[in-house]
Amino acid sequence: MITADALRARLDGLDAIGVRPDGVWRMAWSGEDAAARAWFEDQAAGVGLRVARDPAGNLWASPEVEPPWWGVGSHLDSVRGGGRFDGPLGVVCGFEIAAARESSTRPVAVVSFADEEGARFNTPTFGSKALAGRLDLPAVLERGDDDGVSLRDAMAAAGVEPDGLADAPGWLDRLAGFIEIHIDQTTELARAGEPVGVVSALAARTRLEVTLTGRADHAGTTPRAERRDALSAAARLIVGAEDLAAGAGSALDGGTGSLTVTASKIITTPNAPTTIAAEVRLWIDARAPNLDAIDAWRSRLDSVIAELRARTAVEVDVSVASRSDAREFSGEVRAALARAAEQVLGHAVPELVCFAGHDAGVLAERVPAAMLFVRNPTGISHSPEEAVSLDDAAIAARVVEQALGLLA
Ligand SMILES: [Zn+2]
Repeated sequence: MITADALRARLDGLDAIGVRPDGVWRMAWSGEDAAARAWFEDQAAGVGLRVARDPAGNLWASPEVEPPWWGVGSHLDSVRGGGRFDGPLGVVCGFEIAAARESSTRPVAVVSFADEEGARFNTPTFGSKALAGRLDLPAVLERGDDDGVSLRDAMAAAGVEPDGLADAPGWLDRLAGFIEIHIDQTTELARAGEPVGVVSALAARTRLEVTLTGRADHAGTTPRAERRDALSAAARLIVGAEDLAAGAGSALDGGTGSLTVTASKIITTPNAPTTIAAEVRLWIDARAPNLDAIDAWRSRLDSVIAELRARTAVEVDVSVASRSDAREFSGEVRAALARAAEQVLGHAVPELVCFAGHDAGVLAERVPAAMLFVRNPTGISHSPEEAVSLDDAAIAARVVEQALGLLA
């Protein structure tokens, strides 16, 4: 029987690694990352699994039987000042599941993906993308961190040969499928009063890059009517884009009320205190359960932009920096999780759409995969305020253990 105490004992060892007053610092390819790897090796030894590191630096704790295995796990790296549970929860649950399934005909492998957060090199879900063959290797290896260290050098220093990365996809054949337990990054489950929920899909997303071109001029002497102020226009555009999402959200996304729009990054030129901004580059991130909702928002945004051009004489150019449709998880795995949850809890649990990226979402393109979320009372993640009851986590691990029995 998987218990909260067993999960706590595993988490305790990990809690000592990279914890600072402002949260967990366990960046990819760092010394803390190496300490987390040593913890992983100890846990694996304790449940009789042998550890291997694949060419992308992902850690595999696998059974003696020949692959393919079902994989369970998540990631051990964190953002700067992160929380205890985003990632580690899926790995500690993985070891409990592996221990519980040890004697079955279908034992599982525990996988901890390298650099899931991408916090150091802007390479989110690095390890799973490497397995799926979705990395532009030469470009990604030359990316630098804030200290000017390249990913190539950081990997090499952490003992992973960068030029071996191209061999990572060969490892994917070892997985019959993958299930990731993860904290809910919203209060959805807490509000529903449910300890766990099955994730049906990762949301569709579009990232727009907007260039607003005005004219540099004196901040004091230029009359309002003669200004072509790119920064002022950008401010109006941001507010307009948000208002469209909030006001018309329910109409645009088919009633789920979950079109989420964020102006996430801005670069202003010349960015001087006494000069009207000549140019602004602005990135807007939009997510919804499907692309239709985002496209409907985008077409309304075009009329906001037309009005802005007319009113401010600022040129506005919009391009799509990236765009991906919703990624649906395996129907078979979701059904197994739903049935197992009903067996464990005695009632059906909700399905949710997740608005963040995850390794399981990357793998879902190639192998049957799904996620089970665990209630997070604060709804906060990427912060020390992340919260999870280990009783809920134990339920999640039992559900996955049982679902693997159904899938075998
Ligand atoms: Zn995570």
